[in-house]
Amino acid sequence: MSIIQRFKDFVNKETNRENESHKVTVLIRVLSLALTLTSLVSAVVYLISGFYHGAFMLVFSSLTYCAVFTLTYFFDNRCTLSLFIAIEGAIFIVTPVVFGWDSSVQAFPILLVIIYFFSSYKGPVYKFSFIAATFIVYMILSMKFGGTTGVMDLSPALHVYIRDANMFIVLVLTGIAAYMFANEKQDMEKKLIEYNKKLEEKASVDPLTGLFNRRKCMEYLEELEKKASEQMFCIVMGDIDHFKNVNDTYGHDIGDLVLQGVAKVFTTCTRDIGLVSRWGGEEFLIVLPGMNGDEAMEVLFNIQSEMRKMCVMSGDQKIKVTLTYGLTEYDPALTLDQNIKDADDKLYLGKQQGRDTVIF
Ligand code: GH3
Ligand code: MG
Ligand code: MG
Repeated sequence: MSIIQRFKDFVNKETNRENESHKVTVLIRVLSLALTLTSLVSAVVYLISGFYHGAFMLVFSSLTYCAVFTLTYFFDNRCTLSLFIAIEGAIFIVTPVVFGWDSSVQAFPILLVIIYFFSSYKGPVYKFSFIAATFIVYMILSMKFGGTTGVMDLSPALHVYIRDANMFIVLVLTGIAAYMFANEKQDMEKKLIEYNKKLEEKASVDPLTGLFNRRKCMEYLEELEKKASEQMFCIVMGDIDHFKNVNDTYGHDIGDLVLQGVAKVFTTCTRDIGLVSRWGGEEFLIVLPGMNGDEAMEVLFNIQSEMRKMCVMSGDQKIKVTLTYGLTEYDPALTLDQNIKDADDKLYLGKQQGRDTVIF
């Protein structure tokens, strides 16, 4: 693994507490690391220019940011975020005293407000109180230090440096914070869409057989009913013969395996031509769109022939099952429920006539 990748993994390392926002932790790490480095660079500039007090101050602030970065691996977000905001606030107050009012110090509160707004889950009262408090501090500083050049008596070139460097850093950090949270919103939306899709799938599928459930099948039938004038369709009700015997003889678990085997045959034989659902315990409803009764019969003969090949093993015993089917062509003169009942009545007739048959 490359050093850059290792560094990325280190910064992205999971939060200390499971229920904390990972994004906020990473943001505090990125910002405190950036400030550690930029403070160090500025310290070097002061050192070269002979302003040792300034250099000392910047080394100190660099160390405090470095401490915040380290603490994110041991403490929760609330703690490190408060510390970060406290340090930023202190620098906001100290900067005009030391470097003068013309040091872009006015930009500091904007970064503070953005970080507080994005990373705190407090309500609007807290957030706008934070703005008010920041503005009060700003006004006090403005009244006291507005127009002053600071106690450090910097050269004009260093004045320009500190003013522009501060502005640059605040802009970059504000950009990073905004970027990360804009992305988070999109990430969350994407996650939510995927989660909803999964939920929808779960709500549509029978967990044992993987077939669609009755609810999904009804939705599908209602769609077909709306388009019935353009496209005819067939409804088939199928029921496993003497399934109770399978359960009684081999046990419920083997019964479940048989249901899964039957479902697999249905899925294979109706792929791309229809929809099969588990209508009830060992009853299946097959919908065959765009087919008349004769075409549906062909499909059912194929299903019957494949079903004969299907077997489930219980020890060295081969268990085979047959099904009885009631087939009806959708009749627009009847309601959907009446059409389904018609298929069901035919199924019942098939049971009476000895099972393992299709009644059309
Ligand atoms: P018929 O040929 O008249 O349909 O007889 P049958 O025994 O299949 O019908 P009956 O309605 O008497 O029994 C259906 C059985 O299906 C009873 C029930 O325990 C079983 N069954 C329903 N759902 C499940 C299931 O999810 N798993 C298992 N193993 N059995 C189930
Ligand atoms: Mg049955
Ligand atoms: Mg039944």
